[in-house]
Amino acid sequence: MSVEPTDEDCIFCRIVAGEIPSRTVHETENVLAFLDANPLAPGHTLVIPKAHHETLADTPEELASEVFSVLYGLTPIVEETIDADASNVAFNNGEAAGQEIPHLHGHVIPRFEDDGGNPIHAIVGSRPDLSDDELDDIAERISANHQT
Ligand code: 5GP
Ligand code: ZN
Repeated sequence: MSVEPTDEDCIFCRIVAGEIPSRTVHETENVLAFLDANPLAPGHTLVIPKAHHETLADTPEELASEVFSVLYGLTPIVEETIDADASNVAFNNGEAAGQEIPHLHGHVIPRFEDDGGNPIHAIVGSRPDLSDDELDDIAERISANHQT
């Protein structure tokens, strides 16, 4: 069943609406999973909410939970199907983090022992040098904000 795209300019909304073809691998009422058109590995899969939301913070909790639930179920199936040794499961969550399509999507990227790739730690240019006091302060502030 196709639905009206939430955002006419959004490629992923147009995929949800059936206006742009995709290789769907799984679908629920609110979530769609399909192969990435420019895969980083065979089986590279994207999992999106059907409704248009840009980042995790923009996405209602229940819908985000459904996206994570599909990622949870699909990841081992993708790995097994592709005979991968592991996978990276990640979101580019916002433009500054490298998000190019402004419609929330989780990547499942199959990995292989000898693929020459890097861990997720390779995504930053340089690491900050933080003292114990600074780390304590950051932890306290995040914890306090979470409780408000
Ligand atoms: P981002 O950088 O926003 O996290 O990733 C966007 C992903 O969407 C990229 O991996 C890119 O290859 C993929 N992509 C872009 N356009 C299309 C499309 O029209 N169809 C599909 N299936 N994937 C796309
Ligand atoms: Zn969209």
